[in-house]
Amino acid sequence: MSTNPRSTIPFSRDALDQVLKRRFFFAPAFEIYGGVSGLYDYGPPGCAFQANIVDTWRKHFILEEDMLEVDTTMLTPYEVLKTSGHVDKFADWMCKDLKTGEIFRADHIVEEVLEARLKGDKEARGISVAPVEESDDKKKRKKKVKEIKAIKLDDKEVAEYENILAQIDGFSGPQLGELITKYNITNPATGGVLEPPVEFNLMFETAIGPSGQLRGYLRPETAQGQFLNFSKLLEFNNEKMPFASASIGKSFRNEISPRAGLLRVREFLMAEIEHFVDPNDKSHPKFEAFKDLKLRFLPKGVQESGSTELIEESIGDAVASGMVDNETLGYFLARIYLFLTKIGVDANRLRFRQHMSNEMAHYAADCWDAELHTSFGWIECIGCADRSAYDLSVHSARTNEKLIVRQPLAEPLIVEKFEIEIAKKKFGPKFRKDAGAVEKWLLARTQCELEDLAKELKDEGKITFEVSGVEGKIELDTEFVKIEKVTRTEHIREFTPNVIEPSFGIGRIIYCIFEHQFWARPEDEARAVLSLPPLVAPTKVLLVPLSSNSELQPVVKQVSAALKKELIPFKVDDSSASIGKRYARNDELGTPFGITIDFESVKDLSITLRERDSTKQVRGSIEDVISAIKGITYENKSWTEGTSKLSPFETQAAE
Ligand code: AMP
Repeated sequence: MSTNPRSTIPFSRDALDQVLKRRFFFAPAFEIYGGVSGLYDYGPPGCAFQANIVDTWRKHFILEEDMLEVDTTMLTPYEVLKTSGHVDKFADWMCKDLKTGEIFRADHIVEEVLEARLKGDKEARGISVAPVEESDDKKKRKKKVKEIKAIKLDDKEVAEYENILAQIDGFSGPQLGELITKYNITNPATGGVLEPPVEFNLMFETAIGPSGQLRGYLRPETAQGQFLNFSKLLEFNNEKMPFASASIGKSFRNEISPRAGLLRVREFLMAEIEHFVDPNDKSHPKFEAFKDLKLRFLPKGVQESGSTELIEESIGDAVASGMVDNETLGYFLARIYLFLTKIGVDANRLRFRQHMSNEMAHYAADCWDAELHTSFGWIECIGCADRSAYDLSVHSARTNEKLIVRQPLAEPLIVEKFEIEIAKKKFGPKFRKDAGAVEKWLLARTQCELEDLAKELKDEGKITFEVSGVEGKIELDTEFVKIEKVTRTEHIREFTPNVIEPSFGIGRIIYCIFEHQFWARPEDEARAVLSLPPLVAPTKVLLVPLSSNSELQPVVKQVSAALKKELIPFKVDDSSASIGKRYARNDELGTPFGITIDFESVKDLSITLRERDSTKQVRGSIEDVISAIKGITYENKSWTEGTSKLSPFETQAAE
């Protein structure tokens, strides 16, 4: 288990869980009713931490790149998600224990059992293994896990298991079924036989309106609302390309067996970017500035060979060699790295894992996940995919709305193309109210489709097709349509943009930061600290009057007013607890600064500033202390830079 570099005491997930619970960062929703798996409420510090992360995200991505933010609805009609592919494909594989009815996610159960067997084998061979932190669910199955530990594997089996685990994200349901049979994987708690995996769609279905006729879903991601508004956004952007939209909002997934706290939940906050780019030019104007940034990659080829060894190289080299498909994708990987490290992710526990060929959607050009290491293993926290023109194309085909970019050409172009001519006057009498829909359908055909239709019209003397929302088959002969290949001089280029989509799960990132920044003071295991960066810490300052003597109150008021004026979030703790206890409480809350007000303060309005991690103290005027806090929190100054006007101070009370 990773130990925080600030401490010699090994990380303990139990200790972290207790702190998060005690300080109400988050808690199971509906707890007094017994709770519901995968649903959590955030308490005051969790709420403030999340708000600060979202605020930093907005500044780092939306402001920096002039992205266009939209807030789209969570309730989504069936048709939209049918077209996007979610109704048919947004599923995980699950298998059931025939006897107990317990349900497992197929890839997770294979992973869990093979990992446990490998660990047991290492122990049997006398190789020391770091203690694995077990989830509550795993603890319940501990007895069986112990039995698994007793199994000794031969070298071939060890190699096979490691190979499977390196590729665990790439197996289909039937392949997982084969692994379950081949390796005799059973319910770890009971040894019960598992049924072959079946697909389970993760979307929550509902009906919109009282009639129950309009089927809908709670959205499983925020992306679709951005695609559907593409034309409006392009117009808003004065038709300029490339551009990006962004959205922050809740998404819903009916996870098969949510475990591991905030890491796998059924309702979670997502922040997604859709960067629309010319398919012929995926360069990025700001890539140059980031090209030397070194990142740690786990490319698909390495995983497919059964290894998880990381390659560390600059994003410039990764794009130049073709490992990362294009500059825009590489640019976002670099920006993701900078964002994560700014908000408290440990760079040594961050890797970019490429999707393997069998894992990636067929239309995607490339896809990398930012994964963070935790006591649960490597966790995907951000997906970053080049989705090509898939989303805009499918919605355009379904709605007959052109979701395209029209750009003036520098030089006119002579092109041969198919064109359709519609005898509009005859459409009205023939189709009546459906005339518009039929016309729109014809005008939305791609060049390939027009070529096929032209052939059909020539060979059969008519074309036959169906239009969604119009009853029956439609037949048109040459009296109604003409489709011909013509030569034209074009001054405008039309294209469907490609989309690069970085997709962030805020709750997962939050939990990983907790793990990366949690440690215990080496001199006292019970004194836990959450070293949240000042920028995102829920509260920036704890204001502590040394005693409850009323003489100190005017200074407390004065400092409070000054902090309020600067919009610095703070809390006053004038409880009777010892000063050390009061600071310890706030170390757990991740509060980076403490201000102590003592009897000297009454005389000369000087105050003491304490830094959470080092417990160093410095002293100076109210103005200088607040300016130091502001500089370190919001202006990226180091402690030394920020406190240059303050003097070292020896503590008055033992902490
Ligand atoms: P995906 O669309 O599956 O690539 O997911 C995008 C991001 O959403 C992931 O990288 C996660 O951070 C987050 N995410 C997905 N599923 C869950 C979940 N069940 N609980 C929490 N976060 C999730």
